[in-house]
Amino acid sequence: MRFAVLAALLGLALHPRPAAAQGPPDWAIALHGGAGTIARDMPAARAEGYRTSLGRSLDIGRRILERGGTSLEAVTAVVRSMEDDSLFNAGKGAVYTHEGTHELDAAIMDGATLGCGAVAGLRTIRNPILLARLVMEKSPHVLMMGAGAEAFGKSVGVETVDPKYFDTQRRREEWRKALEEDKTGTVGCVALDRHGNLAAATSTGGLTDKRFGRVGDVPVIGAGTFADNRSCAVSCTGKGEEFIRRTVARDVAALVEYKELPLREAAALVVHGKLRPRDGGLVAVSRRGDIALVFNSSGMYRAAADARGLRLVAIWDE
Ligand code: ASP
Repeated sequence: MRFAVLAALLGLALHPRPAAAQGPPDWAIALHGGAGTIARDMPAARAEGYRTSLGRSLDIGRRILERGGTSLEAVTAVVRSMEDDSLFNAGKGAVYTHEGTHELDAAIMDGATLGCGAVAGLRTIRNPILLARLVMEKSPHVLMMGAGAEAFGKSVGVETVDPKYFDTQRRREEWRKALEEDKTGTVGCVALDRHGNLAAATSTGGLTDKRFGRVGDVPVIGAGTFADNRSCAVSCTGKGEEFIRRTVARDVAALVEYKELPLREAAALVVHGKLRPRDGGLVAVSRRGDIALVFNSSGMYRAAADARGLRLVAIWDE
């Protein structure tokens, strides 16, 4: 355990801040595009494609926060852009269910108000994160699922698509091989804005070949997604069942809030000390603007930036 915490701290040392940076940053953002078995020998062009996409989404959020936009606006825009990017398992590019369909889950949380909205098992909503936000803002509920959630979406004018929109050749091939491999992936974003408010958003197609209406951690507030101005914002990725059992996102926040642990220590404790090896990882940002990017799988697509000049895009330990 000690080693894990130390490793996390060393991980930070690999990405030192610019020497001129002083005081806490007044905005900060981190995102992930999924954790899991990411082959180190992936073709260079493909890795480069991921880095370009991660950097592009990061810049969308960075620009919003730089001009004084809200963390809620930033995490929504970032996750939406990743849902539209077929490289990631969310929105376009989502994995296939056992029946050859797509069932999408998403959640968003506002750390200032503890307002939250989540959706599960969507088949026709182009951007699940937008519907999650509408559940938060335009309904008295927190979590809506399936056909009911889609009917609510129509009533509030969210964009719908033919389910074929989510088909991609690459995911279809993965699905065919799914019994041999354990494929995961998700997108998520956490942010602190210049007004001192935190937000978290997460969106996923879930696990390849899932069945029986399986829902993972993403739309379970406190498991895959959590934000509270008193502590931090967290977005997780990995084997959803394990994140639900261990209330991973909330645990990180509780360690920061009640035990006053530094964010990275809290995140490392939960990811390396509570989760099982290779379960996945998370991105988090604290109310002080600290960023944690922690995973126990072979890699995690991730990126981060802050007002002090940090800019990082990475896939493996690098
Ligand atoms: N956590 C997601 C789920 O279990 C999948 C992932 O992040 O890879 O649905």
